[in-house]
Amino acid sequence: MTKWVYSFGPNGSDGREDMRQLLGGKGANLAEMASLHLPVPPGFTITTEVCAYQIKHGAYPDDLMQQVREALKSVENEVGHSFGDPENPLLVSVRSGAPVSMPGMMDTVLNLGLNDETVAGLARKSEDERFAFDSYRRFIQMFGDVVLGVEHHRFEDALEQYKDGKGYILDTELTADDWRELIEEYKAIVKADTGNPFPQDVHEQLWDSVGAVFGSWMNQRAKTYRRLHNIPEEWGTAVNVQAMVFGNMGEDCATGVAFTRDPSTGDNDFYGEFLPNAQGEDVVAGIRTPQPLTEHSREKNESDLPSMEQTMPEVYLQLCDVRAKLESHYLDMQDIEFTVQRGTLYMLQTRNGKRTAKAALKIAVDMVHDGLIGQEQAVQRVTPGSLDQLLHPTLDPDAEKDVISRGLPASPGAASGTIVFTADEAEQRAEQGEKVILCRAETSPEDIHGMHAAEGILTTRGGMTSHAAVVARGMGRPCVAGAGEIRIDTKSGTMRARDIELKAGDTITIDGGSGEIMRGRVPTVEPELSGDFATLMGWADKIRQLAVRTNAETPNDARTAVKFGAEGIGLCRTEHMFFESDRIVAVREMILADSAEGRRKPLERILPMQRDDFAQLFRIMRGLPVTIRLLDPPLHEFLPHEDSEMAEMAEATGLTVDEVRARANRLRETNPMLGHRGCRLGVTYPEIYEMQVRAIFEAACQVAEEAGETVEPEIMIPLVAIDRELKQLRELTDRVAAEVMEKHGRTVNYLVGTMIELPRACMTANHIAQHADFFSFGTNDLTQTAYGISRDDSASFLPSYEHQGIIERDPFITMDPDGVGALVQLAAERGRQTRPDIKLGICGEHGGDPDSIRQCQEVGLNYVSCSPFRVPIARLAAAQAALKAG
Ligand code: ADP
Ligand code: MG
Ligand code: MG
Repeated sequence: MTKWVYSFGPNGSDGREDMRQLLGGKGANLAEMASLHLPVPPGFTITTEVCAYQIKHGAYPDDLMQQVREALKSVENEVGHSFGDPENPLLVSVRSGAPVSMPGMMDTVLNLGLNDETVAGLARKSEDERFAFDSYRRFIQMFGDVVLGVEHHRFEDALEQYKDGKGYILDTELTADDWRELIEEYKAIVKADTGNPFPQDVHEQLWDSVGAVFGSWMNQRAKTYRRLHNIPEEWGTAVNVQAMVFGNMGEDCATGVAFTRDPSTGDNDFYGEFLPNAQGEDVVAGIRTPQPLTEHSREKNESDLPSMEQTMPEVYLQLCDVRAKLESHYLDMQDIEFTVQRGTLYMLQTRNGKRTAKAALKIAVDMVHDGLIGQEQAVQRVTPGSLDQLLHPTLDPDAEKDVISRGLPASPGAASGTIVFTADEAEQRAEQGEKVILCRAETSPEDIHGMHAAEGILTTRGGMTSHAAVVARGMGRPCVAGAGEIRIDTKSGTMRARDIELKAGDTITIDGGSGEIMRGRVPTVEPELSGDFATLMGWADKIRQLAVRTNAETPNDARTAVKFGAEGIGLCRTEHMFFESDRIVAVREMILADSAEGRRKPLERILPMQRDDFAQLFRIMRGLPVTIRLLDPPLHEFLPHEDSEMAEMAEATGLTVDEVRARANRLRETNPMLGHRGCRLGVTYPEIYEMQVRAIFEAACQVAEEAGETVEPEIMIPLVAIDRELKQLRELTDRVAAEVMEKHGRTVNYLVGTMIELPRACMTANHIAQHADFFSFGTNDLTQTAYGISRDDSASFLPSYEHQGIIERDPFITMDPDGVGALVQLAAERGRQTRPDIKLGICGEHGGDPDSIRQCQEVGLNYVSCSPFRVPIARLAAAQAALKAG
């Protein structure tokens, strides 16, 4: 018999923390907390397998009903009241919980088990009518919304109208009788909207809610979130049914959320927010401004609301105790949810807290220094991709800034953009290439696409744990939250901070690290790799086996990469050196010439410029290896297009404009990416490669002479498909190199190799390796040629492939392991057969992608090469890959 239901509570738990796949993160951690003797209200978890079963069969497993009945019975025994008992009813929450947390993505129903009869029992037992009827109306609203699909705002509107009629401002002003009246209205709304009365049978309520939570796994919000975070649909969600505790029974009650350390900075400060006399999601919804947990954070944020430390000192101490227990057990920063019922603390959730990259680094490094975890664990704690946040510019401290207001520093980084007020508009404008800042009173899961499209997010309500703050931190978007001074008027498309009015389309800058909001665009400065970041990188370097190089051709890129720890250049493209305005005429002269002699003359003018380029790079790289790829792009790309360019060429060559046009037309290609390019240029126009090789070796000799620096160039021949292509071009290279070295009386150690970027090259790698000291996998072109998909045209259909689930990931972002990865593996094996010590690297975009780096580790490449700003990401990903490989 399959166990579909797992109980948890003070009497012990069936589940454990490491059963998240089966119980979901929430269920597994509720079980674990109960086992640690933390105060967890009893309940049970219906497994993710039931969700999968239900999707597959359209029905629940036969024995589920029985197992749920038994689990419910033991909850009843534990708390001493019965579900549906009109005298003393047990109420439960029905909560979703997937294997990985999807904040706010799925639905929860609270206070389930209330009906016209049990509400009276609850009122008598609690001796608080107001509380009982308030709970009932909340239940009707949540159940109506989540289970029956009645729009949330219908209830909100009814409430607002009622309050207006009575002249009330706050919900707390409503009496028991007021709620009673509203409940009748709520029930009428349900009846009108669904055609059925609000269900009074508590078991029907329970099963319908369970069904709705399972169903929410497939709602649009959840689907979008899964797509953005690469969460497989098959996983399913679990459902947790848990005895209710009440934070809304009076002023000695509260509900709150907290992080065991500051999720923004990583400081070892208890960080949280709570609302007295409130229930459930009131805190995250941003309806009332929550109060700080500690005096420390009250002072820091200059809040005038009293802290829990001050108003509920005993509960606060209990909570501090829980904090210490959780950290020493989980050995990681936790994000917790709790409720206080009449002075007693209950724990409702814990999970590893989401944090900014800065906080992740600080927490990992601090925990190593405190002896809680080791360096290897620390290295695994930081998501490589998140480092991107720290590699982005921050505000120039010397820049002038016109600060118009401030809010909470909810997610660090600085961003400038134009103001938009809706998620849809953010998306539309971003698609046009505009940088936007999404400004909202608060955000909700419906805004995700707009938050994703925006450079930064600004909200005027809600705290550090509001939806906007949590989601922005997860996405690495700068966010300033709860800027209470600002009033947004969506209708008129304006936003007002005291006496300053801004319109949609005006430019602002937000600093999510300080909370400042500024008018206009404020200049930024480049990031530094120092402090905790440098410490963790040092640990990663000790662990990793893959070397990390960079793709760079300009001195600026090379310098940045070296600063970020690059151990050489893995790809220096030489074509950009041909495109600069002072060179392009010579280049065009060369390709339009109709003889080798005619080509030599302009090449001689280019030679000294190329030599200087290389010399500059060699100086910056100070003896580190530099892989230079000889000219690769189609000749087609260099042709003159405009009439003015034709005229310019006519003047330079002494030909007529018509002759120039005729020659250019001869060189035009239908399919240039598969045309006259790569080593084919070297085979047909050997003078070009000769000039480049000469420039490289003259530069190497020159730098060696002036600086005593050893330079080890690695000459890379692109787009080889046939071993004889490489044989011929290697001979050319060796010959020119020998000439230059002889002339300078110096030996330069160098390698000659090829870029492997065609399937035929992979298949014949054993032959190609006879002439290659190294292979560098050019996986952009290899992906293009393996799939037969043009990289430049894929945008019109690949997204649709992803949506339809035909492919899981864009193969140009993460290397496709089954096709392209297999080709790389095969080429590596065949290359090593011929030349066991052949040097292997990767220089496609994939060299900076953590999942692809893992594949490179598995194949046993020597290095990855990526763009300068991804070098730290690659260093960390390489260390994690080495640890994973064991
Ligand atoms: P989410 O996954 O969106 O955080 P939860 O299932 O955690 O949703 O529920 C949201 C909130 O509802 C919780 O933080 C808690 O405040 C409240 N809640 C859930 N279950 C209970 C319960 N058994 N008793 C009291 N409050 C509850
Ligand atoms: Mg929760
Ligand atoms: Mg290529």
